Amino acid sequence: MGDFVTLFFPNHCLGCSSSLYKGEDILCTRCILELPKTKYHEHVENTIKARLTGRLPLTYAMAFLQFRKTGVVQHLLHQLKYNNHPEIGVRLGKIYGKELADSDYDKAFDLIIPIPLHKSRRRRRGYNQSAKFAEGLSSTMNIPWDESIAERKIKTTTQTRKTKTERWENVRNVFYIKHPERIINKRILLVDDVITTGATLEACGHELLNHGCSEISIACIAEAQ
Ligand SMILES: [Zn+2]
Repeated sequence: MGDFVTLFFPNHCLGCSSSLYKGEDILCTRCILELPKTKYHEHVENTIKARLTGRLPLTYAMAFLQFRKTGVVQHLLHQLKYNNHPEIGVRLGKIYGKELADSDYDKAFDLIIPIPLHKSRRRRRGYNQSAKFAEGLSSTMNIPWDESIAERKIKTTTQTRKTKTERWENVRNVFYIKHPERIINKRILLVDDVITTGATLEACGHELLNHGCSEISIACIAEAQ
């Protein structure tokens, strides 16, 4: 069966397009080895935590990769968000979740929640890319994830060309906690794709704290400078 599937759907690495060997999944070994990792889980005081100091009380703040305007991370995130490749989010989440679990972070959280997309955007894309990352993290950290707790009630415009203040104004009231009973006294790991100013995580994190979770940590696929 495996060979039959391979014959009709040859598997190529979504990072570099080279053929995948047996045992490789979504990404080739070389692409995985060359991923620009932040290793922030080994440095609790890091630039993401510093970026959100005084804005959102955080236990841990982490990103798996460094985002650059060119290169494999930009390419993978583009495939994940715009080219219908949700499996990239799951794969990156599994790799990162394994690294986090190896450093005992699997005991630091009770529940993983992805930053929600507005339902019209989620419908158009077919999935929430942050939820796919959450799904991967969940599978190797053995921590449940839930994308139905938080909702984005307002469709926001793109944050790309906004200043820091404009970004905050754009997102401060967009999140709604639909199931507060599921987060009471829980240590939440809030997950997003790329962190820039952190305004989105800040807004969603405050909503979760206001509804009774005990602490918030964040993990993103990548950190933009
Ligand atoms: Zn590759």
